[in-house]
Amino acid sequence: PPVDLPIHDAVLGRAGAFGDTPALIDGTDGTTLSYEQVDRFHRRIAAALAEAGVRKGDVLALHSPNTIAFPTAFYAATRAGATVTTVHPLATAQEFATQLTDSAARWIVTVSPLLETARRAAELAGGVQEIFVCDSAPGHRSLIDMLASAAPEPRIAIDPATDVAALPYSSGTTGTPKGVMLTHRQIATNLAQLHPAIPAGPGDRVLAVLPFFHIYGLTALMNAPLRQGATVVVLPRFDLEQFLAAVQNHRITALYVAPPIVLALAKHPAVAQYDLSSLKYIVSAAAPLDARLAAACSARLGLPPVGQAYGMTELSPGTHVVPLDAMRHAPPGTVGKLIAGTEMRIVSLDDPGKDLPAGESGEILIRGPQVMKGYLGRPDATTAMIDGDGWLHTGDVGHVDEDGWLFVVDRVKELIKYKGFQVAPAELEALLLTHPGIADAAVIGRYNDDGNEVPHAYVVRQPTATGLTEAEIMMYVAERVAPYKRIRHVTFIDGVPRAASGKILRRQLRERA
Ligand code: ATP
Ligand code: MG
Repeated sequence: PPVDLPIHDAVLGRAGAFGDTPALIDGTDGTTLSYEQVDRFHRRIAAALAEAGVRKGDVLALHSPNTIAFPTAFYAATRAGATVTTVHPLATAQEFATQLTDSAARWIVTVSPLLETARRAAELAGGVQEIFVCDSAPGHRSLIDMLASAAPEPRIAIDPATDVAALPYSSGTTGTPKGVMLTHRQIATNLAQLHPAIPAGPGDRVLAVLPFFHIYGLTALMNAPLRQGATVVVLPRFDLEQFLAAVQNHRITALYVAPPIVLALAKHPAVAQYDLSSLKYIVSAAAPLDARLAAACSARLGLPPVGQAYGMTELSPGTHVVPLDAMRHAPPGTVGKLIAGTEMRIVSLDDPGKDLPAGESGEILIRGPQVMKGYLGRPDATTAMIDGDGWLHTGDVGHVDEDGWLFVVDRVKELIKYKGFQVAPAELEALLLTHPGIADAAVIGRYNDDGNEVPHAYVVRQPTATGLTEAEIMMYVAERVAPYKRIRHVTFIDGVPRAASGKILRRQLRERA
């Protein structure tokens, strides 16, 4: 059943009971916030924000890397009745201004190192009433000072079914990022639905290295563990050695990561130097993860197979998970089973009205309580995505097996069409990564002189494999795939461009080509 609670109550409802349990630990200096503090602090700050003029329905831009203050700022804003739009901490002033304008944001919460960018963005966009800082900066009200506020706690009537709690922007992998309106009910309900895959509770420690501003980090590393009494160790950015040291020193029990981190855990030499024995399981989501890579990672660390989850910003964000108790027997490569209260169809790419049987790949459609309210200010894009019967068209290609396990092949838009055949870049990327001399790889479609779209690989060589040639790579793939999937071009690069959520930005490679 839908969970009809404001997001701050859905998450912090039991905070009082968790009391002195550490809720958040700064992974760089050990500063700790208990559950009691997060609960008390977010109420005080909500009161001060309301006193400063924040009104129900105002959009507040939260512009910060992962810090232990981020969740408090987020829940304070929603308690004051605001809609929080999270902003990439590395956004340029122009990018930030675009988001401020698109969302009609009236307030900004930032951190002092990012203040200049926030100021310029506010100037460019106009309409921002005030910039607050989480830490402290001359001339700006700080959330720390707000803790001393004597203002009465605001009594804002929130309707969880219709009021928008969060306005995250999609990753922008396929185009301009779009503001996704998620109501309190959609987020709160999805948290309950995802519980089988994110069961971390008292005694568990998760490592928040994926960004809170993206819906995956926001859900798996902030809302879910704080709702359940786990401890969140926070790192501001991904640095492999710092990440491994944090797992070791904080005895991290569960990792929620994206495929590039699974790749590093499977292949990087530094991994062997750390004691990672506190880990109980690893979950990966946000981009395709190859079964062989997942197996190499779990074998190296002596863990159950890496479990996957599937979702998108527009789905609050989840629909499929490998429940923890199924990790050992789920078929390799699956992104999971449909969660409770959600429906799925797989329809033909050529004939979209036609449902496909198990084993056949088509577009994944979803209907359920977690389907977004819509894209902000883009009614046409919303109706293109959600049809009249409430089915959200994910744009992803997948199939289920006889037992209902879902396998995601790739995005419809990324499929390379070679002479009537369809080639999934993700499959070729996964195969390339099995080559010992390849550190990372991305594949895009490219038109040959004869007008055929063919796979073009961008390859990062291992430092020890500088002699690896294009011909060797093409041969390696040709020996392992059907002729129509062969790679026809190889370009060596220093790094694969990726979004903060871990997704390959094939668009950037295409522009470069
Ligand atoms: P935009 O819509 O702006 O182009 P985006 O789709 O990358 O960006 P997100 O909402 O962050 O933005 O990502 C959702 C997408 O991530 C899904 O549509 C799917 O393609 C991909 N994805 C998520 N989980 C998985 C998974 N486990 N395996 C494969 N792909 C996944
Ligand atoms: Mg998308």
